[in-house]
Amino acid sequence: MSQDECIFCKMVADSIPTAKVYEDDVVLAFLDIGPLSDGHTLLIPKQHYTRIGDCPEDVLAAFCARLGKVARAVVAAVGAEGYNILGNNGRSAGQLVEHVHFHIIPRRTGDGIFTNWPAYRYPQGRIEALAAKIRENL
Ligand code: AMP
Ligand code: ZN
Repeated sequence: MSQDECIFCKMVADSIPTAKVYEDDVVLAFLDIGPLSDGHTLLIPKQHYTRIGDCPEDVLAAFCARLGKVARAVVAAVGAEGYNILGNNGRSAGQLVEHVHFHIIPRRTGDGIFTNWPAYRYPQGRIEALAAKIRENL
């Protein structure tokens, strides 16, 4: 997806209607049009990057620094008990819009969101091997 076709870049440029909730020189936050709960908000850096891992550290630091402030405001506005911060990176992970973003999803006990969390146990030795392999790739 080129930057010219990116729907989130169009929001940054004010060329499509957006329910903005926060904006500064680095980030934009706005309501998701397909919410999982009332107040479901997206936070994006204004610069176009596809995945978290593509962002330069200064952009990522500034982007993440705004998460708490926006999440507190969302939770207060809708009276949520908690929230999920979710980042889909890549098609396989469910990313549809290829401009990096965090979902801020207000939660209530028993709301039925994310009921399936298919956790499992590693076989013997696998966890140490995987940790070592990740360290080699840093
Ligand atoms: P993801 O699957 O993580 O890429 O999520 C992209 C999100 O962007 C989805 O939850 C969409 O509902 C949301 N979205 C797409 N277009 C718009 C739009 N024009 N305004 C607000 N949210 C949008
Ligand atoms: Zn973009």
